[in-house]
Amino acid sequence: MKLCSKKWGNEKYLITDESDETLEKGLDEIRIAFNKMPVIQSLLKDFEKNKPLQDLVISCCLHVTKETANLMRTLKAGGADVYLCGSNPLSTQDHIATALASEGIHVYAWTNNTDEEFYECVDACLIPKPNILIDDGADLIVTAHKNYPEYFEKDGCIIACQEETTTGVHRFESMDKNGALKAALFPVNDASCKNQFDNELGTGQGVVAAIYGMHVLFAGKTVVVAGYGHCSSGMALRARGLGARVIVTEVDPVKALKAVFEGFEVAPMNEIVHKADMIFTATGCNNIIAKSHLDKLKNGCILANLGHFDVEIVAKDLYAAANGKIKTIRPSVEELIMPNGNKIYLLAQGRLANLALSEGHPAEVMDMSFALQAMMARYISENRQVLKVKHSILKVPDELNNDVAFAKLEAMGIKIDKWTEEQYKYHTSFEEGT
Ligand code: SAH
Repeated sequence: MKLCSKKWGNEKYLITDESDETLEKGLDEIRIAFNKMPVIQSLLKDFEKNKPLQDLVISCCLHVTKETANLMRTLKAGGADVYLCGSNPLSTQDHIATALASEGIHVYAWTNNTDEEFYECVDACLIPKPNILIDDGADLIVTAHKNYPEYFEKDGCIIACQEETTTGVHRFESMDKNGALKAALFPVNDASCKNQFDNELGTGQGVVAAIYGMHVLFAGKTVVVAGYGHCSSGMALRARGLGARVIVTEVDPVKALKAVFEGFEVAPMNEIVHKADMIFTATGCNNIIAKSHLDKLKNGCILANLGHFDVEIVAKDLYAAANGKIKTIRPSVEELIMPNGNKIYLLAQGRLANLALSEGHPAEVMDMSFALQAMMARYISENRQVLKVKHSILKVPDELNNDVAFAKLEAMGIKIDKWTEEQYKYHTSFEEGT
């Protein structure tokens, strides 16, 4: 069965496995995830009826998972023509890509694509002159700025952009500061309904699932967590909950202090790297496990990165040190023998282990992240005239963030209090004090 060849008219982008079995597996997984995404469910229904995205082309660069699939289906139900490429070479799940293609989403993604193929896929999503870009890590939007500057001009196709992850937001903050950002950009990652659940709960659980898959016990282990942001603090808590002794490393004094007050040992990496049974990096910065650390790593140490790019652990230097003594012992788990004889286990070649080794963050939290993305797309469509002339980072409106929280609570059957008129008056007045 060839699902995509005719539509794309380009043999190069054929999904390699389009068998009935693969397709059914993909469709089943998407359906089961949908069942855990009640906010997306209600949005999809609403979008089907009201078609808020009619006539828009939306291009996305996201991890190709069952949860992303449900966002893609929602955007399509809203009337958009939807293009999708993967945001990381190892996170694309081919059966999901196949299933999405069968539903008329233009998918340009397959697992383990090369850097060159990765950018070919990004380009394939930019050629159709998109109106909205939804990114995870900024590669799509940055490439659009570089290769299609005319899209951002007054009569260009781009209305506004949305970013899913911390690393992407940091890149856009730097573009914004340098005057290089040419469109309105909504950092969906910075909405509390996204980062307090997806980042804090999802990242840690994704990594725990990866380590469980290796059949390794957390209890009794010394776990080093690099960074104490949303993702890493969630990871530190989960490792502690499973009985590990957790040491946090940080550069930000406030985050370091927070880790201390939350009961973690905090120390510089250099001083504790030799103690670690597992090291998790989620800093968004490079050389966290640097060349100088490699001969200090303990025998059996597991190295896993949770950050968006594969720069936090110096994988290249690690491979060079192993000098060919490298064995893949499980999918995406490599055993490297160091010159001192110590065995090191590197996950996903230093790419984000929470997506490469497990299925990503669970549907229950992605429900909120992707509901926000869908609502933002609708908001952009409704406010296109105003947004078209903005060239900076804008905040996701608080009402949308609250709408998602209310919808999630309602779906969970949880009611909350409402201010009385008197309380509202008190709360919003500056006059009443002692
Ligand atoms: N925030 C970190 C990386 C964390 S994971 C950083 O930027 O360095 C990267 C992103 O993957 C998250 O923002 C999350 O929203 C997204 N993600 C996680 N699980 C997913 C899933 N199941 N499907 C699609 N995207 C997912």
